[in-house]
Amino acid sequence: MSDFTIRFWGVRGSLPCPGPATKRYGGNTPCVEVRCGGRLLILDGGTGLRELGDALVQDGGIIDADLLLTHCHYDHVIGIPFFAPFFLPQHRFRMWAGNLLPDFQLKPVMQAMMSEPLFPIGIDSFKAHIDYRDFRAGETVIQDSDLTVRTIMLDHPGGATGYRIDYRGRSVAYLTDNEGRREDHDKALVAFSKGADLVIYDTTYTEAEIDEKKGWGHSTWQDGMRLAVAAGAKTFCLFHHAPEHDDAAMDALLAEARSARPGTIAAIEGEIIRL
Ligand SMILES: [Zn+2]
Ligand SMILES: [Zn+2]
Repeated sequence: MSDFTIRFWGVRGSLPCPGPATKRYGGNTPCVEVRCGGRLLILDGGTGLRELGDALVQDGGIIDADLLLTHCHYDHVIGIPFFAPFFLPQHRFRMWAGNLLPDFQLKPVMQAMMSEPLFPIGIDSFKAHIDYRDFRAGETVIQDSDLTVRTIMLDHPGGATGYRIDYRGRSVAYLTDNEGRREDHDKALVAFSKGADLVIYDTTYTEAEIDEKKGWGHSTWQDGMRLAVAAGAKTFCLFHHAPEHDDAAMDALLAEARSARPGTIAAIEGEIIRL
């Protein structure tokens, strides 16, 4: 059985939206657990990160992991102060951000998010060993014999980093938050996603909604699917669901997307994909 797995802990964009109308797809904001053999990578630290943290602590053992942030908009980082392993001294993390330089740096941004009057405790409350790493999207951030993590700048206000994880001949591209419809950049994203087994993409808006949301930095499943098809990607996955799109709306969107390309999936909280 494959030891390359993806598990969704948060699939929602912009704002958490718990409640009966969203309980099948989930209401937590972005957090995706990626396991490559014994290696743990975490994509984004939205509200889904809290439950992942509790599960990791429950599992026991020493955690040594990479937390790869697309960017620091609240929906992608608000789970960080509630990530239990950060409060335990035996664990080690590398936290990465590729969109902040040269104007900002990750550690002071985290410090600002966790400071009065916005938050009661500071990052000095974290007891784990945390290495805050700034890089420039486009760089390869991890490369060893089995595993490569490459990055690309996405089209989003303030920038965001797209990640491609290649492990033993299989690959996933995580491309959220991205507006697109800029020819050169779309081409670069196609090249970046070439032949990926799974493309997880920002499908916040419907075609009916997107014209009113120009400049907000999000996309539609149609744009994402065009990219995935051009890249020859195997499976396309809807992600960063709008809080307004309840389970019934998501069922309808997924049905539309599936009729355009059979095999398309939508990210659902708690689901595990084996690559
Ligand atoms: Zn977002
Ligand atoms: Zn954003």
